[in-house]
Amino acid sequence: MIQKPKGTADIFLQEAEIWQYVEETARILLHDYQFSEIRTPMFESYELFSRGVGDTSDIVSKEMYDFYDKGDRHIALKPEGTAPVVRAYVENKLFGPEHPKPLKVYYISPMFRYERPQGGRMRQFHQLGVEVFGSVNPATDVETMALAWDILKELELSDLKLVINSLGKTEDRIRYREALIAYLEPFHDELSKDSQTRLHKNPLRVLDSKDKRDKEIVAQAPSILEFLSEDSRKHFEAVQEMLQALEIPFTINSNMVRGLDYYQDTIFEIMTSSAVFGAETTICGGGRYDGLVQEIGGPEVPGFGFGMGLERLILLIKDQQVDVPKLSELDVYVVGLGEVTNIESLKLVQNARQAGYSADRDFHDRKAKAQFKTATKNGAKVVLTIGEDEIKNKQVQFKVMSTGKEQTLSLAEIYADFDKVYKTQTADMTAFNEFFGKED
Ligand code: ATP
Ligand code: MG
Repeated sequence: MIQKPKGTADIFLQEAEIWQYVEETARILLHDYQFSEIRTPMFESYELFSRGVGDTSDIVSKEMYDFYDKGDRHIALKPEGTAPVVRAYVENKLFGPEHPKPLKVYYISPMFRYERPQGGRMRQFHQLGVEVFGSVNPATDVETMALAWDILKELELSDLKLVINSLGKTEDRIRYREALIAYLEPFHDELSKDSQTRLHKNPLRVLDSKDKRDKEIVAQAPSILEFLSEDSRKHFEAVQEMLQALEIPFTINSNMVRGLDYYQDTIFEIMTSSAVFGAETTICGGGRYDGLVQEIGGPEVPGFGFGMGLERLILLIKDQQVDVPKLSELDVYVVGLGEVTNIESLKLVQNARQAGYSADRDFHDRKAKAQFKTATKNGAKVVLTIGEDEIKNKQVQFKVMSTGKEQTLSLAEIYADFDKVYKTQTADMTAFNEFFGKED
């Protein structure tokens, strides 16, 4: 038996309905915020990520699925979405005068990271991400964070908190880096192995170490917020003021850094302490990356974006028992009794579908009772029954399930205008539902 690769998943039936619900809900909101979709390849040149994400990041140094293709090109399956979108932005000159400014794009895509699989951590996982190019206005930071917040709220998720921080500009970080190294060096031997290596390579990453002793040490470390330049400090204050104006609750954690090297100024995470993950877990993370477009060979254009992990989001949906509307709603079920009805059943479901109704039928020549059971189980609103007599008389039994009303109708009438027949026959049902406040 060949099995799926470790850290991957098959998604089907009810699980797939949750995915569709999440994606459709998000797409509607993304449209409200005037984002348009961008689709980039599943693989890119390795160099895009080593340059765009950073050689010292975990993603590039440990987690990348990379290989040489038959033409000896160094390729990587995309581990994140920002670098590819920036590459596409530069390559297609989306900064040109004919394109909207700022340019707001989103993607929903699989990502690949070689990690140790566990709850909410996969080797192939999915991110919903957005990128905004060309605005330094702190309102861009805030409306983009508000979008992430809104998506989670629209899905009726609770137990979420928004955490923000500022990483300042490169010069601020260079000064902070020195102060941080000076603070950490005396603790060198007490730090975890990972943090010891990071101490000089990428000391900011020591701040988000998950090791217990590391955490105690960094709790007293100097804060990056004290190293911000005037501009960055003002920007960060404006962000806070605007979040307050929108009444979006947030906390500041000056020890929060992000896994990717390209961030500047505002960064944020939306976290949950839901028990499904064991420890506090990030669902969505992002921030401002004002130097990245240039790094990838484009003009000096600022950016702001986030990536939201859909597996984690869906674990939350299940844990919090969010009501997921049923997508596979069924309007019409055709009950065909006897072999002779096979073709007519086929024609009847096709006729209903062509009139815009969802329709299904029995394929196993089962007894009437079994077929009605399926119709009820699938929530069919209307059942059309045909047997030998109906075939002979060119008729069909049309039953409205909610009222139990059944009528004999001619096949000719059904085929002439199914929409009209359906609406006339179900008029009572609609009135009944309206009276009792049910949706059609
Ligand atoms: P973590 O610290 O949990 O590894 P990260 O900092 O590597 O997260 P990002 O690169 O910021 O994560 O990706 C944004 C989001 O994508 C995460 O908050 C998470 O929801 C999701 N994500 C990242 N890696 C995985 C993975 N291996 N499996 C499932 N979801 C993931
Ligand atoms: Mg990670």
